[in-house]
Amino acid sequence: MVKSFGCWPLTEDCETNGEDMKTFLDEVNEKIHGVPIQRCYHCRKCTAGCPLASVMEYNPNKIIKMIQLGMKEKVLGSSTIWLCASCETCITRCPNEVDIARMMDALREMAIVSGVGAREKNVLHFHEAFLANIRSNGRINETMMTVNYKLKSGDLFSDAAMGISMFMKGKLALISPKTKDIQSVRGIFDKTKNA
Ligand code: SF4
Ligand code: SF4
Repeated sequence: MVKSFGCWPLTEDCETNGEDMKTFLDEVNEKIHGVPIQRCYHCRKCTAGCPLASVMEYNPNKIIKMIQLGMKEKVLGSSTIWLCASCETCITRCPNEVDIARMMDALREMAIVSGVGAREKNVLHFHEAFLANIRSNGRINETMMTVNYKLKSGDLFSDAAMGISMFMKGKLALISPKTKDIQSVRGIFDKTKNA
């Protein structure tokens, strides 16, 4: 069960009563360690440039507004946070340097940790397959990553013809060399997991 925070507009109590009165906005700001979300003045330049805004449930600017309004369950349960491709077009355009890509990353993590889960399950499966491949090799082997993703998602045959064609043209390798210092790469994963 996700705790909801309706502490908006901020009152003196919200700001002074410590941990228990932490707003959703506070939680997100703590996670992104950058420009606070409230620097956004809703000019919508981020949304105008976002290549995925047209397919998002709530556009990037709206997600910021919802965070400011404490709409935690709706934000964490939305497909938007999973559809963001982390392309960083938004921060390039933002006059206030609000890092929406990092914010979306923090929101995805919060969705998993809080038990809401991923609204776009296959996006989560893709992230897992990508990271497992990096942890194992230190770099991506497209063939193995794709096989892992296909097994996780259960979507076994949708791109099969294209995959075979790419393989025949030598675009997909079955084996690729590991990074020399693979232990350092795994150390980064372990540190991140325990952080
Ligand atoms: S471009 Fe920046 S200031 Fe403008 S709406 Fe987006 S996040 Fe807010
Ligand atoms: S990082 Fe995400 S929200 Fe920002 S422009 Fe790219 S897809 Fe859109």
